[in-house]
Amino acid sequence: MLLGAHVSSSGGIHTAIDRVEAIGGDSVQVFTQSPRMWRPTNHDPATFERFRERREEAGIGGVLCHALYLLNLSSPKEDFYAKSVAALLSTMQVAAAIEADGVVFHVGSHLGAGFESSLERVVPALEQVLELTTERTWLLIENAAGAGGTIGRSLEELAVLVERLGRHPRLGVCLDSCHLYASGYDVSDRETLDDLLSRLDADVGLDRLRAVHVNDSKAPLGSNRDRHDNIGEGLLGEQLGVFLGHPRLQGLPAVLEVPGTDGHGPDADQIRKAKELRARWLERG
Ligand SMILES: [Zn+2]
Ligand SMILES: [Zn+2]
Repeated sequence: MLLGAHVSSSGGIHTAIDRVEAIGGDSVQVFTQSPRMWRPTNHDPATFERFRERREEAGIGGVLCHALYLLNLSSPKEDFYAKSVAALLSTMQVAAAIEADGVVFHVGSHLGAGFESSLERVVPALEQVLELTTERTWLLIENAAGAGGTIGRSLEELAVLVERLGRHPRLGVCLDSCHLYASGYDVSDRETLDDLLSRLDADVGLDRLRAVHVNDSKAPLGSNRDRHDNIGEGLLGEQLGVFLGHPRLQGLPAVLEVPGTDGHGPDADQIRKAKELRARWLERG
């Protein structure tokens, strides 16, 4: 497992490598533009090359780009839908330019219209984005916590999305431990996690699981609330080790998106805790 963190890239996208290196991460996740604004960042192409060089130097094994939080690929409003597709396309372009391993995104919400009908909007949007993927840079659907009609809240929904997209060869998934817990999968229990990964393998293919997000949860099991907590400090607690130490999850980029010890995001302390917890659970087998 390549434990790392979501970090800021203010001052140029390449600076994310410096930040993650400084806190001892082995993988990194960045926004390619401000996550709460539609306006794309105007990147200096020289920073893309700098990013790739710095990644080599620092030995960062996994790189993920996270798309905007705003986007909703099933929005019934034409302008909102168009902006969402454009934003995801733009993130995909930057990700391919820095040779990221994937773009992680939240599909959005069907706003009560139902999962099945949302596919009429979501599928053609993702077909466009998949055209920009490369051998290196895949598109990764993140599982949702399940609030307010969010799409991708269950293994079944993820499997349907992959199926409807023709099992595209560069389409994958990213599983978030906090979102799994909030959507009712008790990943702090080894048998439940075993079963989840077996079903993922059967219905989606474990080769499509390209990244994980490692977060503790402030919100209870099945609450459908997306509230990240620091490693070992939430309701998963020490049992987050079940996820961190699971043999089938080793080798993947594993990014922390936690509040951090001082509230400024993932820090060295959080990465150290995650690494320690993982090592302890790996020993148990
Ligand atoms: Zn996440
Ligand atoms: Zn979340």
